[in-house]
Amino acid sequence: MLIERRDFLSTLTLAGAATLFSGNPLLGLASPKKDKLGIALVGLGYYSTDLLAPALQLTEKCYLAGIVTGTPAKAETWKAKYNIPDKNIYNYKNFDQIANNPDIDIVYVVLPPAMHREFVVRAAKAGKHVFCEKPMAPSVADCQAMISACRANKVKLAIGYRCQHDPNIQAYMKVAKEQKLGKVKMVNSAAGYVDNRTTHWKQNKALGGGVMGDMGVYALQGARLATGEEPISVFAQASTTRPEIYKEVEETMMFMLDFPSGAKAACQTSFGINMNYLQVNYEKGWLKMEPQSAYNGNKGSISDGTIINFPVKSQQAKQMDEDCLAIINNTELIAPGEEGLKDIRVVEAIYKSVASGKSVKI
Ligand code: NAD
Repeated sequence: MLIERRDFLSTLTLAGAATLFSGNPLLGLASPKKDKLGIALVGLGYYSTDLLAPALQLTEKCYLAGIVTGTPAKAETWKAKYNIPDKNIYNYKNFDQIANNPDIDIVYVVLPPAMHREFVVRAAKAGKHVFCEKPMAPSVADCQAMISACRANKVKLAIGYRCQHDPNIQAYMKVAKEQKLGKVKMVNSAAGYVDNRTTHWKQNKALGGGVMGDMGVYALQGARLATGEEPISVFAQASTTRPEIYKEVEETMMFMLDFPSGAKAACQTSFGINMNYLQVNYEKGWLKMEPQSAYNGNKGSISDGTIINFPVKSQQAKQMDEDCLAIINNTELIAPGEEGLKDIRVVEAIYKSVASGKSVKI
């Protein structure tokens, strides 16, 4: 009897102990390989409604299988529009029961940034792969907790950096990688739009607002991806022309980055200015993109006469299909959690620089 009990315990240790301690009922269990994955969108606001759900009608490797919403009326509308069965509709309270739903392979968190950590961790504990919108979270500590939770539960974590799936963006990343025009000397990168809302989460600090995490990550990514390097120091200045609206967070952020190779970047982002461009000056030429981070139509030119203008049917569909393929084949994601963390590390340093009025090492 004793031996049998010991055998049972060792079997439990190998196959199921992690389950007991992690709370993830799927951990360690081999699930049959699917060729099309079910996605549940969490948060049915603008981006889910206008971009992700329509893109999920075009994807080949995934489909809209479920929704998680705090608004019962939205559940009804989505259920009718996308033919979603009741068993795949959750609210924020009963969300954790998604662990028992084999229709849902991936949870896509499309909530205000300050809510990302909670829902990514809950999704990971439910044994689901996770897609998380940008900015990954308000702090480096949040990002690290999200990465750890996904690692502990053996699920993948992808950040919704749609641009990194866009061949037009990949084209300028390649110029840096191949050093076709020599080393990068200077980058100018801008991303902004006029937001006329006054009480949205983008104007609310506790929910993760502020332009830096929002459009700012596109300005930052322009510099990071065009140099292929991580910045080592930053000097930043925050400002607003509408103090009655931007009471808690910045409307505009300007930041200058230094890279290990000696390259420098001047970046701007704003909720009060329409701008979207990237200019890179290399030792032997230049590259210009305008727009650099739109949903479609990103295009540019290089001083050697090359035109960058690849057609993309749906950036979001391409992003989700490529991330699903990485899950299906267990290969590297294009923009994993670690990539989201790299940006937030710089964003934290930018806020430190604003607070101190000094250049900050990263
Ligand atoms: P939104 O305000 O339109 O939607 C937010 C959703 O969260 C709503 O359904 C709202 O009901 C829900 N929510 C739950 N609790 C909330 C709370 N306490 N306060 C406010 N809303 C709450 O926002 P959005 O524009 O859809 O942005 C959602 C996420 O998607 C953000 O992380 C944003 O940065 C990201 N986003 C990414 C892109 C992109 O191009 N990748 C574009 C737009 C938005």
